[in-house]
Amino acid sequence: MKYRSTRGDMELQPFSDILLEGLAPDGGLALPQSLPRIGAETLESWRALRYPELAAEVLGLFITDIPKSDLSRLTQAAYHTDAFASSEIVPLKPLSKGLSLLGLSEGPTLAFKDMAMQFLGQVFEYVLDKRHASITILGATSGDTGSAAEYALRGKRGISVFMLSPYGRMSDFQRAQMYSLQDRNIHNLALKGVFDECQDIVKSLSSDLAFKSAYHLGAVNSINWARIAAQVVYYFWGWLRATSGQNAGHAQQVSFAVPSGNFGNILSGHIAREMGLPIRRLVLATNENNVLEEFFRTGVYRPRSAAQTYATSSPSMDISRASNFERFVFDLVGQDADRVRELWHELEQKGEFDLSAMQPDFEARYGFVSGVSTHADRLDTIRSVHRDAGLLIDPHTADAVKVAAAYVEPGVPMLALETALPAKFSETIVEAIGRPAPVPEHLQELASLPQRVEVMDCDARLVREYIKQHA
Ligand SMILES: *Cc1c(COP(=O)(O)O)cnc(C)c1O
Repeated sequence: MKYRSTRGDMELQPFSDILLEGLAPDGGLALPQSLPRIGAETLESWRALRYPELAAEVLGLFITDIPKSDLSRLTQAAYHTDAFASSEIVPLKPLSKGLSLLGLSEGPTLAFKDMAMQFLGQVFEYVLDKRHASITILGATSGDTGSAAEYALRGKRGISVFMLSPYGRMSDFQRAQMYSLQDRNIHNLALKGVFDECQDIVKSLSSDLAFKSAYHLGAVNSINWARIAAQVVYYFWGWLRATSGQNAGHAQQVSFAVPSGNFGNILSGHIAREMGLPIRRLVLATNENNVLEEFFRTGVYRPRSAAQTYATSSPSMDISRASNFERFVFDLVGQDADRVRELWHELEQKGEFDLSAMQPDFEARYGFVSGVSTHADRLDTIRSVHRDAGLLIDPHTADAVKVAAAYVEPGVPMLALETALPAKFSETIVEAIGRPAPVPEHLQELASLPQRVEVMDCDARLVREYIKQHA
């Protein structure tokens, strides 16, 4: 399996090479040259597998430059009860007739980003070890991604992590989670600024090519293909768990509802569907930042400026420019890299592009439908799920459940992806039901642990100096 770029100007590369890169050299995103197809028999043969075994099968289709036995070892280490609270790794939780949660938040940081990051940590260490190489991960976070990366990369050989976060702007829980890590290869820098300024410093240091190569700077952001591939696994898992496998067999379809921001999670669903997994609908849910909902409704893609991006109570979806969207558009336009380049040129010139002529295809050919959920919807949904199913869900998951409700059909199981646990966003839980969400037992003493963080002014030169001294 070799990888190409959505902009068409990259030599074919094996997985291990694109693993360590961010954007492709032509500014595009890496994709498999062609997708593996999974037939009904193969699918049935996977039914008895445990999660790490299924992960080795699915990832083995995308990763052909790592021996299968090594890959199995990596998935066993990634998806282990040392890191995941559920012995199933990804449990299904029934909510109501036809609607269940796919529990993607049992990992160390209580959010679905752990699903991909735990594997990324293992495969990074493996590839770096083989190459006798090292890497410096530089990132910026407003909460979820940074902590998932740190928990996955802590203590890993050949990897140091420098994570910039906005000083005083994360929740107590998020701060305690990140800053209590004492591993020597993890460096938390709290900058006296906002998230966008942290992000700008990452961009400025990464575009300094001399610095980048001297310190082997790398990224773990959501465009990394290994993250997308690792997420494909749980669509297969969800389908296998939601279908009986007896009489209905392979014809049985399942729909998935996905709370979306950067289009990473639902892109993995699209990949699974293109591989032949019987997915009926991919239901894309946004919050008030509805750029993607608008696209699937109208065919016009019109990203907003930072100033027009609202701060909402599902903050991990407050995104105005979906960084993985280009991979889906590549498929939409018949994998025509020239057309992708034209569209992104148009986007730069006019701030939007228009594929409304293809809009009927979005559902008919690709299964995509979309909907918006607001703050009031989140509170209502959290309340009603709590009342009717006795389960507490987080605000992002509530967005998915709200939008999914309109698309539940008899005979087609609907799985709403649970992308975080409520303890992480307890303020909104208090607003909805009048009391906080319970904190999982193993995290209860988190707040009292000593914290290790370097506070500094928001200045790229200070960050650069710090990396020079500590990498
Ligand atoms: C990152 C995140 C999302 C959005 O996922 P994308 O892959 O960016 O679409 C949704 N919910 C939570 C809790 C997240 O952390």
